[in-house]
Amino acid sequence: MDIIDLRRAMLRWRGLWLRWFASAVVPPEVKGVLRTLEEGGGEAVVVGGCVRDLMTGRRPEDWDVATSLEPDRVRRLFSRTIPTGIDHGTVTVMVGEVGIEVTTYRTEGAYTDRRHPDWVHFSSELHEDLARRDFTFNAMALTVGGEIIDPFDGLEDLARGRVVTVGRATDRFAEDALRMVRAVRFAAQLDMELAPEAHRACTEMSEGLDAVSRERIRYELDRIIMSDSPARGFEMLRETGLLERFWPELVEGFGVEQNRHHAFTVWEHTMTSLQATVDIEGADLALRLAVLLHDVAKPRCLEIGPGGERHFYNHHVVGAAVARRLLKRLRYDNRTIDRVTHLTRHHMALHHYPQMKDSAIRRLINRVGLENIHDLINLRIADRAGSGTKEAPLSRGTVYLLERIGRVLEEDAAFGLGDLAVDGKDVMRVGGLEPGPQVGEILETLLDEVLEDPALNERSILEKRIEELARARS
Ligand code: ATP
Ligand code: MG
Repeated sequence: MDIIDLRRAMLRWRGLWLRWFASAVVPPEVKGVLRTLEEGGGEAVVVGGCVRDLMTGRRPEDWDVATSLEPDRVRRLFSRTIPTGIDHGTVTVMVGEVGIEVTTYRTEGAYTDRRHPDWVHFSSELHEDLARRDFTFNAMALTVGGEIIDPFDGLEDLARGRVVTVGRATDRFAEDALRMVRAVRFAAQLDMELAPEAHRACTEMSEGLDAVSRERIRYELDRIIMSDSPARGFEMLRETGLLERFWPELVEGFGVEQNRHHAFTVWEHTMTSLQATVDIEGADLALRLAVLLHDVAKPRCLEIGPGGERHFYNHHVVGAAVARRLLKRLRYDNRTIDRVTHLTRHHMALHHYPQMKDSAIRRLINRVGLENIHDLINLRIADRAGSGTKEAPLSRGTVYLLERIGRVLEEDAAFGLGDLAVDGKDVMRVGGLEPGPQVGEILETLLDEVLEDPALNERSILEKRIEELARARS
């Protein structure tokens, strides 16, 4: 039995169990809303992403209800409603603390502004509402009785593992170019392939993405990065030319050979490293972005030495600047941008130094910040996993260094100014100094000495040093 047959058998099996399954999994609040809408004289179903999630064995995060009733009627049927998107037919029904979005069946015009449909008409036909949706598996509905409505054979496409548009791919991508990135997103999340027609249409129409808002692209991109197949997702984005439209800098690494430390090209290395983050606990979005972008500047930093050896001097510094530009372009928040660029800037810190002294490790922690050291270690682990050499995922030297860092972290040592046994007020009091730059300079000197020898971090010892240092300056 091959994988498609297996998936199909599972889906058939699921079909039999669906009634039971739906009644077990659809929350009572949602079922209550469906029943009230039916008793109010309308049709009501759950629809869209939650049905897709149910059919692939995932627990839906939110439940979208669609109904033939117009928003006014919906509002009158429930005691507490919020008109969250009333123009587009969406009313949020509050059941206790839970809010459930109920949207009137509708048809839509094209997305001329690339954000919103030009027009929305309410409809009393479920089929029309399903037909406006992007992919066949997003165009399925489920009734309160457990019947699945699947006019475009979304189940079949799920079984065959292919992303298929509702209607002609070229038409649907012309209406809203973001759907091309969504296609890749679902392929990455659901471990599927783009159907050949969709793949071809993406490749032909990738330029259409230029007109789509960066925020919408970022929303889908984050889901690709956080999926279980981020590397396949990015491979698809590159192949189709979609990646070129918003992050061409990342494509520069394609085909760029490295040196004896690497079996892979820059692009292959980036993809393998990114994929490795899936198995790293705590690899959140910022860490995965850092892994994705840490070598982004390698192609432009490539220098070939006299013996033909290839170097990428300073690529971490240039890379931090390039990463910042890329993240800003997609309107990432400042916290994410700062974390990713900081990690990119310091990603070489753990390279090649298994023989570092403890004091050097403390200095390194001081430089990159205690709060970043675990991210940096995880970045290093992903980076190694992507080297493609025999020693991957971790060389013995790296394991040794990571163990040493772990041990140094466990010591109650000082890693920053805040850990010193004295502060700026002590420096002024003991040294008889006015506020000014010298206070900070003395603190830096003390920290430097304490990083070298943690035993010096005692109030009495440091106060004596403050006296000496202040005297030397007067
Ligand atoms: P998730 O919520 O898990 O990210 P989802 O499929 O629910 O995935 P949403 O963006 O919440 O995605 O959209 C809900 C539903 O609305 C989709 O399942 C799809 O039917 C429809 N939809 C969303 N965006 C589009 C679009 N750009 N074009 C056509 N239909 C869309
Ligand atoms: Mg959703």
